Amino acid sequence: MSNLTPDASPSPETSTRVITDYRTAIGALARYPSPRLIAGFIAIAIGLRASLGGWQTADALMLLLGVTVWPFLEWFLHKHLLHVKPWEIFGRRVDPDFARRHRAHHREPWRPELIVLPPYVHFTFGPLLLALGWWAAPDPALAMSALVGYGFAALNYEWTHFMVHTRIQPQNRYYQGLFRAHRMHHFRNEKYWYGFTLTSVDRMLGTGPDPDVTPRSEHCRDLGVDG
Ligand SMILES: [Zn+2]
Ligand SMILES: [Zn+2]
Repeated sequence: MSNLTPDASPSPETSTRVITDYRTAIGALARYPSPRLIAGFIAIAIGLRASLGGWQTADALMLLLGVTVWPFLEWFLHKHLLHVKPWEIFGRRVDPDFARRHRAHHREPWRPELIVLPPYVHFTFGPLLLALGWWAAPDPALAMSALVGYGFAALNYEWTHFMVHTRIQPQNRYYQGLFRAHRMHHFRNEKYWYGFTLTSVDRMLGTGPDPDVTPRSEHCRDLGVDG
């Protein structure tokens, strides 16, 4: 970072390793656009849903569905997109930004700007999901309710992923489980523990083995890719 002198000691702005309490973690995360963009998405989805009126029980079920979809989606995207290795098309190397960025996150797990989602993800998928829900879904009201749940799950993802990269020692079991699993993904074997917000998804999909019998990987930092 250009505004730091070489001997500057790390701060919550430059390293999540120095963060030991929730307040500092929330403050550090709030510096990035991602949580604000997700909050904006939730507000728009709520506003659109409210504009249609006619609340029903199915809204609650759709909200729940939106929340439930997220942990499976994050697992799938993490395993199959973020960990994708560069490939060649007609002699040209293709190495998508999201995969490079995720490798950088594995290389430097304490750099806060590599933990949060980049704004382009929200600017691409936020409007797309809202437009699909509004114009393409058979019932726009229920679609908006599902997107509200999805938005809250996304916000929870940003928070829990950021938090497990700090030195906070959580007291509740949900956070403790996420801490353990994500640390295993980063420091034991990158081919397991893809879930960020729900460890049971890894167990369900065969990527949540017993750590004691899981071999250590040499590629936790480079994900098996040179350079
Ligand atoms: Zn991570
Ligand atoms: Zn990963």
